[in-house]
Amino acid sequence: MSTSENIGSAAVQDTDTATAQAPDWNRIRMDFPLLTRAVNDKPLIYFDNANTSQKPVQVIAAVDSFYRNQNANVSRAVHALGSEATDAYEGARNKLARFMGVRGDALILCSGTTFAINLVAYAWALPNLKPGEVILVSRMEHHANIVPWQLIAQRTGARIQVAEILPDGSLDLEALYKAMTPQVKLLAITHVSNVLGTVNPVREICRAARKAGIVTVVDGSQAAPHLPLDVAAIGCDFYAATGHKICGPTGTGALWGRRELLQAMPPFIGGGEMIKEVSFEHTTFNDVPYKFEAGTPNIAGFVGLGAALDYLEGVGMAAIRAREAELLAHLTEELNRIEGLRIFGTAPDKAAVVSFLIEGAHAHDLATLLDLEGVAVRSGQHCAHPLLQYFGVAATLRASLAFYNTHEEIEDFVAALHKARALLG
Ligand code: PMP
Repeated sequence: MSTSENIGSAAVQDTDTATAQAPDWNRIRMDFPLLTRAVNDKPLIYFDNANTSQKPVQVIAAVDSFYRNQNANVSRAVHALGSEATDAYEGARNKLARFMGVRGDALILCSGTTFAINLVAYAWALPNLKPGEVILVSRMEHHANIVPWQLIAQRTGARIQVAEILPDGSLDLEALYKAMTPQVKLLAITHVSNVLGTVNPVREICRAARKAGIVTVVDGSQAAPHLPLDVAAIGCDFYAATGHKICGPTGTGALWGRRELLQAMPPFIGGGEMIKEVSFEHTTFNDVPYKFEAGTPNIAGFVGLGAALDYLEGVGMAAIRAREAELLAHLTEELNRIEGLRIFGTAPDKAAVVSFLIEGAHAHDLATLLDLEGVAVRSGQHCAHPLLQYFGVAATLRASLAFYNTHEEIEDFVAALHKARALLG
């Protein structure tokens, strides 16, 4: 597409090789049109990337081009547009499989992590769990990885057990391994915490769970934007990812599952596309992954996600990891200089997410004053009530960074924070 050829900078980078030049981060930033806008007459500082990422022009152009040139439904038509749309959609599945390090035939496309986890809950856990059996979840889970399990526990008689964290926000691994008793049938765990930034050693955890005969579900929502993924090496049974945090459109995501588990699972949602044959008496279902993809999907969204994955591959996830580590170190150092500021989550391995509070200032008040300075950060409980209860606080401020953020933005953010705090007395 001409737009991406002209504007794109990322595609020329190959930073995963030792000899590659460092990416030109200033040039890469220019691919994100929204980052040039003003908010409250100030240049926008977008530090709410854990909530959703901004989109490069290549993604916007891909969605625009799909609707202008190819729009048709997938798999239902033999005409040219139908087959082009299907190729584009299936192309996105293959790109996402490569990005995640899995085989495409076991990758179910869906609207995001919430849907993906619910799919496992209703199609695997509901038919398999028995009264008294245990679903193990960690203290640091997002509500999307708690509430579906509670609903299943209520219906099956299974119970939820919590794997606790340590005060620095890392998992208490010793306690977690001890908790892997024969009653535990399922472990639902996040790869990276959306509040603390903690990167959990999911490979080691899934290996231990597998030995104990426990099925593992890894929530990869916050890992996919920050780390090179290798889901096959993690060795989990299910891995959920969401597209809107990796520069793709909202309403896109995926569930990868072990093929043998997916084949044995009943469908979650029924309708068109997920069937082979239907009569009023009986339906035979389509093969994996289509068995789990009833109805018309977000085709344009996945076309956009495909463009986002090309973009990220061009920049290089290893380069992104290194860039964000630098930004995180800078932000952490600056925040640690502020008197009365407490950071929640200081684990040794962290993604670029910093939750904090300043003594005497309410998180929402600070966020409102920061907004007046053009700064977008999230304040509140970040869909993680049990985690905030552990720390005994009602809310935190969360600054979450992406590779397109800059050191200058960090300095301007800290200046805005000082100003906001002074206003609050
Ligand atoms: N899990 C985690 C750790 C998240 O950060 C989020 C998004 N905030 C979700 C699950 C839910 O993702 P989605 O809304 O895209 O389904």
